[in-house]
Amino acid sequence: MLNKWEGIILKSIPYGESNKIVTIFTKEAGKLTAMARGAKKPASRLAAITQPFTHGTFLIRTGRGMGTLEQGERGESMRFIREDLEATAYASYIIELIDRLTENNERIQGIYELLYDALHAIDERYDPEAIALFVEWKMLPVAGIHPVLHQCANCGATEGEFAFSFQEIGFLCHRCFHIDKYLIRISPTQLKLIRTFYTVPIHRVGNLTLKKTTKQFMKKLVRTIYDEQVGIRLKSRSFLDQLESTPELLPRKEKPEEEGE
Ligand SMILES: [Zn+2]
Repeated sequence: MLNKWEGIILKSIPYGESNKIVTIFTKEAGKLTAMARGAKKPASRLAAITQPFTHGTFLIRTGRGMGTLEQGERGESMRFIREDLEATAYASYIIELIDRLTENNERIQGIYELLYDALHAIDERYDPEAIALFVEWKMLPVAGIHPVLHQCANCGATEGEFAFSFQEIGFLCHRCFHIDKYLIRISPTQLKLIRTFYTVPIHRVGNLTLKKTTKQFMKKLVRTIYDEQVGIRLKSRSFLDQLESTPELLPRKEKPEEEGE
């Protein structure tokens, strides 16, 4: 059967003399793997559209076994992602995270949109570090983690002072602080931010500018959850960590020092 699907190339692995095996996240059919015959040859019409981060419409023949990518037409260029080191690094991280947390042919609502929104926002020069953080928070349920952020995880109260608990994976109200001695005190602004990162779609966040310390705080929370509860190690993360600790690699970009709302 020949299908015309919108998708984004997650990865592309050389196969044999001239072929590539591509992993595509499609809007219509979820993640799938397809053989792109001849795509390794630079002159092939499949060469350009099988590069990672490519967004477009793909003609994919499916049947028994692995599908075949027959044709593709580029949609958004994602050019900035390809050309900017920092944008490439964060986009690679997002792609690896989504790839690791999903299975082929599995239909989970909203993941394609999340992937597309994230890459589109980075390509539009939104802060890639903030966008990657949004994706990490929003992928938690896909990883099987459902943080309780709308009420106290212990007693259900919605009023009071709140703290974040790794033990409960969610908020605890001041009446329940005693049940977790390692809880993290948070301000009402931080509480709001955590909810925003988890629930508000990326395309509705606008060009949110966050202080470095805010991003570090949000990152520490979400990465502790991944490390303790999900236990996946991403190859692209160590590169990102190096990049972040080597600011001279990242010229430009003076970030405003106020918080977007
Ligand atoms: Zn409580």
